[in-house]
Amino acid sequence: MPRAITSLVIHCTATPNNRWTTVDDIDKWHRDRGFKRTAEALARQNPHLLAIGYHRIIYTNGAAATGRANWEVGAHAQGANANSLGIALVGTDRYTLAQWDSLAQLVRFLCDQYRIPLEPADTKHPHVLRGVLGHRDVPGTRKTCPGFDVRAWLLRGMTPTPDQIIEA
Ligand SMILES: [Zn+2]
Repeated sequence: MPRAITSLVIHCTATPNNRWTTVDDIDKWHRDRGFKRTAEALARQNPHLLAIGYHRIIYTNGAAATGRANWEVGAHAQGANANSLGIALVGTDRYTLAQWDSLAQLVRFLCDQYRIPLEPADTKHPHVLRGVLGHRDVPGTRKTCPGFDVRAWLLRGMTPTPDQIIEA
């Protein structure tokens, strides 16, 4: 049974800005936290990634790596995993231009693919999250992840402010 995907949740990996980190590193950390992908999922996508909770990871050079398959429920945003995809930027709160460009492209693509409104999700009605939001915007969440205001970024046409960019 395909699941409905109604929102995109944006994360950071909480690693130093502009430090090279791969999907394998993140998989190890998520394994240590007790995350686990199902045998069926492993057989169908990225069998070497036993735990990773995100669906996409955007590297400091802008390359986007895959984690869980889109049809798999992620492990990235408590209370909002069932109907979302999790996208993680490598870093903490400042990202390379290549990452910002890649994020905008990916968000545009996935919103189009799943008919998700390309706009900030209304978080006052958390049972029907529709749109794009940051991890910290998920109702009931007390986190700083992804280190920037996703709503403001969307309203600026998915462009960062100069202080949110780190030299590659
Ligand atoms: Zn997060």
